[in-house]
Amino acid sequence: MKIPSVSRPELGLRYVKGIGPKRAESLEKVGVRSLHDLLLYFPRRYEDRSTFKKIAHLSPGDMVTVKGRVLSAVMKRLRRTVLVEIVIGDETGMLPAVWFNQPYLKNQFLPDREIILYGKADYHQGRFQLNSPEYEILDSRDASIHTGRITPIYPLTNGLYQKSMRSVLYDVTHNRREAMLDDFLPDDFRQRLGLSERCSALREIHFPASSESLESARRRLVFDEFLLFEVTLLQKIRLMKTRFRSHGLEKAEAFLSEFSQSLPFVLTEGQRSAMKEIASDICKQIPMNRLVMGDVGSGKTAAAAYALGAAARSGLQGALLVPTEVLANQHYETLMRLYQPFGISLRLLTSSTERKLREKILGEFKEGRTSCLVGTHALLQEDVEFKALGLVVIDEQHKFGVHQRCKLLDRPIRPHQLVMTATPIPRTLALTVYGDLDISTIRGLPSGRRPVKTYWIARAKQARVYEHMAEKLCSGEQAYLIFPLVEETEKVDLLAAVQEFEKLRKGMFKDFKVGLVHGKMPGPERDAVMKSFKAQEIQVLVATTVIEVGVDNPNATMLVIENAERFGLSQLHQMRGRIGRGSKDSECFLFGEPQTEEGKKRLRIMTRTQDGFEIAEEDLKLRGPGDFWGTRQSGEPLFRLADPARDQPLLTEARGAARRIVDSGQLKTGGEWESLKNYLDQFPIRY
Ligand code: ADP
Ligand code: MG
Repeated sequence: MKIPSVSRPELGLRYVKGIGPKRAESLEKVGVRSLHDLLLYFPRRYEDRSTFKKIAHLSPGDMVTVKGRVLSAVMKRLRRTVLVEIVIGDETGMLPAVWFNQPYLKNQFLPDREIILYGKADYHQGRFQLNSPEYEILDSRDASIHTGRITPIYPLTNGLYQKSMRSVLYDVTHNRREAMLDDFLPDDFRQRLGLSERCSALREIHFPASSESLESARRRLVFDEFLLFEVTLLQKIRLMKTRFRSHGLEKAEAFLSEFSQSLPFVLTEGQRSAMKEIASDICKQIPMNRLVMGDVGSGKTAAAAYALGAAARSGLQGALLVPTEVLANQHYETLMRLYQPFGISLRLLTSSTERKLREKILGEFKEGRTSCLVGTHALLQEDVEFKALGLVVIDEQHKFGVHQRCKLLDRPIRPHQLVMTATPIPRTLALTVYGDLDISTIRGLPSGRRPVKTYWIARAKQARVYEHMAEKLCSGEQAYLIFPLVEETEKVDLLAAVQEFEKLRKGMFKDFKVGLVHGKMPGPERDAVMKSFKAQEIQVLVATTVIEVGVDNPNATMLVIENAERFGLSQLHQMRGRIGRGSKDSECFLFGEPQTEEGKKRLRIMTRTQDGFEIAEEDLKLRGPGDFWGTRQSGEPLFRLADPARDQPLLTEARGAARRIVDSGQLKTGGEWESLKNYLDQFPIRY
């Protein structure tokens, strides 16, 4: 039987030399389905095995690469295992190495063969030995790929082994020209930016000749990742703007001034410009896709309220989607108040809405008798229908995960979309993560806000803090005590929070009303507690992370976070955003004893700054890109090599280039970017 040769990179892997059906299956598990995927299956890290250690110079415990000739090889049968022991020698000495249960090795290590071993120099009873080192038998025909060089270490799964991965990738990158495809960057463009050729970059990223060539390979491939991504994004935006139609909200402009004047406060500069940008988007029939990025407490709700109101005023409907029930309730009440002068009809729908009421509400929206719907995930159920949905707002977008597709938008006339997030990030980065959204930034907080003083407190001083708090409680201020759960399901933590609540209620704060809310509480019960806290019937609110998001009580001036070391910077910042909302001085106490340097750094940053943008940047640095950038719809990471935070200059470069390429129209007509077009046709990026 003739085995078809793989001449096209998109073809199945099982036919590639050294792979076969079994290994192809394992590769599929890590998302590698084609030769092309294989090329982009980059090493997780590298080990520098390029410098050989002389046997006489070994020191105990070192990871070493040793080159020598086989002096002897014997196989010993022990009770349960088979042992192959060899001795190699170089011009400075002799060194034994052993392997267990691999009897076939004996025949590989023929006397006098030159080999390279890589492993740990174990020192035992006065002599060195390598236990199960990686080995490579030097053959003048082959380059050494496992040892004696900067060696790639691949991520593995069941059925994949370093050595076979290396062999396969070496073969693909060095012996299969056809797998490597044409470079999709025109030569002069590439040279101007000082980027290496794609083929050689792919070769070097797998088998770098030196650390310098690895760096320049990485640079080229990072640029490619950004470029392909940005081009795809721009094309998608174009398509959105030309293919889909929205309702133009006729009353958008007029309602802007009416609404602004009706508010109980004067809008900040940031709020005003965000609302203006929204207004000029939604009056058009081109779908708005806008992100409002603003720190906690910057007043994003007003912008949302305006946009929804504009839809209602224009005879259409609006929906406000929020991540939690507590927040849904709060927004519902806020909107009720703000819409009073305008007689805009509003409803609340959550998973705890009773069935009868739910049906009534669904009926109203289906027939178009009611304008605005506020709610949680309950809004996304199949049977929630609208007569004419003109606009959708998604609040606290970061809680929904990066770019969760919103089902509400999938309708023949596309609703305008407004997304709000309290995790501000630097602009160039935002352009990538939220690449298909236009961005409005609300910088700064409403005036009159007092800064929050933040203290990092050792457990020993807890009692003193509580005493201090008690004094302020006496003068009518309120406090949050947060016992965060890492996961809503963590029973032990929850228990601790409940116990602590009992202790404080009967002890330190026995003269005050103390309430408890946590995620496992039935919705209505939780809401009742939140309500009495807001009405100042409760002075101290003990809570798990449910209050992290959006809760607003300007009279609360104190916040304690227990086990603060267990939380990320952004989360801590969000929680702190609950206070400092009124005109009185607020204080935040972080109780925590971090064990790691990074943990200490987080708490130190918290005490130093209150600027959400700065905190987000620090968070990005500490956490690394993985968590932050999330995944594409396919579940693959957004980028394989690139780190938008670290590689910002390349990102900026790639963005500019992508814009020029798309604007030039050459992705349709060909020209010097034809290879890029072909590449994207063949290997589209699903974003
Ligand atoms: P976030 O951006 O965190 O969602 P909110 O919209 O909840 O912030 O606003 C926080 C608080 O600030 C609310 O009590 C709100 O009424 C108030 N607020 C909003 N804008 C202003 C303003 N321009 N001046 C004074 N207070 C404001
Ligand atoms: Mg909010």
